[in-house]
Amino acid sequence: MVGMSTFLRYGVGYRVVLDIFTLTFHELSEQLGSVYGKGPFHAKVLMREILKSGNVNWHNAPEFRQSQKLTRQLTMDLEIPIPEVSRCVSENSTIKFLCRFKDSLESESVIIPMQRHNTLCISSQIGCKMGCRFCETGNMGFKRHLSASEIVGQVFAARFILKKEIRNLVFMGMGEPFDNFEQVRQAIEVLSDQRGFDFAHRRITVSTAGLIEGITRLGKLNWPRINLALSLNAPNDEIRSYLMPVNKRYPMAELKKALISYPLRKKGLFLIEYVLINGLNDSETHARELAEFLAPLPVRLNLIPLNKTHGFPHDHTHDKDVHRFAAFLEDKGIYVIKRWSKGSSLSAGCGQLGSGASLNLP
Ligand code: SAH
Ligand code: SF4
Repeated sequence: MVGMSTFLRYGVGYRVVLDIFTLTFHELSEQLGSVYGKGPFHAKVLMREILKSGNVNWHNAPEFRQSQKLTRQLTMDLEIPIPEVSRCVSENSTIKFLCRFKDSLESESVIIPMQRHNTLCISSQIGCKMGCRFCETGNMGFKRHLSASEIVGQVFAARFILKKEIRNLVFMGMGEPFDNFEQVRQAIEVLSDQRGFDFAHRRITVSTAGLIEGITRLGKLNWPRINLALSLNAPNDEIRSYLMPVNKRYPMAELKKALISYPLRKKGLFLIEYVLINGLNDSETHARELAEFLAPLPVRLNLIPLNKTHGFPHDHTHDKDVHRFAAFLEDKGIYVIKRWSKGSSLSAGCGQLGSGASLNLP
């Protein structure tokens, strides 16, 4: 089960493994209590030193110098599974980095500079099962889920290996977060704790291709400030099912119902992502259909010109057509943002993750 410490069997005995990237404050306190007779006080210090300050020499903290026996035990039992940053490339301040895990598989993450701060785009899986035609991650197929620890590990790497201040987190890297719900939920619990990384829910966005059970489950967590993004990408079922096979399971009318019944906070907005593909989903008729679909929903619509990926023989919508498409929707009262993709020349743009092997190493 996620969040519990693991008991590994060695010979005749058992060894406790406390993974600091997996355990919430309460779980860590409980473990420190049941295994060592300690509790929240030391849990707080561990989170402060390791997750907030990136100090792997946590035992130098004054609170631990006074508890030598506990320090000895924790030196053996506490794990800080920092992933190896196996590659890192940057251009115009956008940084793409790969984390290599114990089985040698790699996740991809991107640090994106915004006006005043950085956003970190993280992966929830290696590869993806959803098979969207325009997406490199979809092309590579599904390798495996990432654990909560591996998700948190990407944030640790950005903060303390690459030494970047990160303000916002977006689950828009490789994978479908709602296909790995429990691990993503657990990672968010850890990342949002004020005693550690301290990412407020309003600074976290979870993006989905439209897995309705996931949308419903997120709504039930009672996390009103977490941001939900939907990758819509099409104005009707015919086009959406062609681009995103997952639409056959969760057609647009059902998706709309799920969003309407989602417990959005007062004045909250859904983020709707729409990749613009020349001649495929960018005509005026498409804009009209899209406006009708979105009419009853409080949304911010992100228009993203298609980034180049392997095996998808279409071009992005040209600038003047993006403006025309946006203007039509704005005219219908929809709040539109035109996002010019960052990092596409290093295969770090939306939908390009999975091409790690083709990176030009510095
Ligand atoms: N699986 C989730 C999270 C990944 S987010 C989801 O699909 O929402 C990846 C985002 O990049 C999605 O919004 C997707 O629509 C977008 N995307 C995928 N391929 C793209 C491409 N080639 N060009 C631009 N955006 C793309
Ligand atoms: Fe998976 Fe999202 Fe890419 Fe679709 S767009 S293949 S759901 S990562």
